Amino acid sequence: MGRDFKVGDIVKGNSETRYNLTDADMTEARVIDTDCVGGKIRIEVLKHEQEAGIGQEFIVDPEYFELVRREEPPTGGSELELVDDSKMAQVARILGEELGKEFYIVGGRCNPYKLTENGLFDSYDQLATVVLSELLIGKLEIKKPTCAHCGGTNEVIQQGNAPMCKQCAKEVLAK
Ligand SMILES: [Zn+2]
Repeated sequence: MGRDFKVGDIVKGNSETRYNLTDADMTEARVIDTDCVGGKIRIEVLKHEQEAGIGQEFIVDPEYFELVRREEPPTGGSELELVDDSKMAQVARILGEELGKEFYIVGGRCNPYKLTENGLFDSYDQLATVVLSELLIGKLEIKKPTCAHCGGTNEVIQQGNAPMCKQCAKEVLAK
């Protein structure tokens, strides 16, 4: 009965008698093959109390070894995709917009536009596929709203027909 070792596992010897070198004095070896004839494994000696056999490879019976540690393969990379797997949400992010939020396009004929899960729609709720591709290739640009008071573009929020930056909104409220 072979133990269930995996390639990359770090093992140590557990028998004083079965092997001369890969014995209990061998404190670390890396499993480099688990598919050897007769259910054997191939290991590379990493640490040995007698400094013996380091770097050498042996084909051994897994019965006489035990796991020291298993280095799990990294799982990263998929978190972002899990957060948001919608294609159109990714498109919106590329354009610096959000799904469902209206925005203006410089020179756009049917402003405002809106991105949804089904594509880009204009103010008449018509699918605007050509406009979307022109945004993506940089032929068209999304217009950053400018404050009706100071003309700035920093943190401008739409308030009815008068877009206003946060700073001006505060001043107006203070009056
Ligand atoms: Zn302002």
